[in-house]
Amino acid sequence: MTHIITSLCLRDSGCVEVCPVECITPGKPQEQWPMFYIDPDTCIDCGACVPECPYAAIFPEDEVPAAYAARGGEFLNRVGQDGHYEGTDHHGDPVVLETVRVLTQGEVVDLTTDIQANTDYYTKGPGYSAK
Ligand code: SF4
Ligand code: SF4
Repeated sequence: MTHIITSLCLRDSGCVEVCPVECITPGKPQEQWPMFYIDPDTCIDCGACVPECPYAAIFPEDEVPAAYAARGGEFLNRVGQDGHYEGTDHHGDPVVLETVRVLTQGEVVDLTTDIQANTDYYTKGPGYSAK
């Protein structure tokens, strides 16, 4: 199994430094790969990244919610969204995203569609050549 970063990720980068096997990578180009991604072949399922995420975007693969119920006000960061987000990451550096949408309270979102993206980044996307 592996852990999965879902599209609740806002590129805060806090998870990267705690991963003992360095398998978390920022997606690039950002407009095509807007989240950070976990390499499923390298992840050892230690769980250290989960509490580091301020947006609760990381789940064990078998616990990724198929029906995530939004609190309201959180951002979904996925290709195809055209909202704007500005914030800062774990280091205080600016983060700007144009691939977001604000969720409404009670809205239900399937986050399991993000599982394949983590694999794809390392098998088909730029993460493959970065290895
Ligand atoms: S800590 Fe959370 S928001 Fe930050 S890069 Fe990791 S998954 Fe994304
Ligand atoms: S579960 Fe552990 S090994 Fe897997 S991405 Fe998170 S910190 Fe890295």
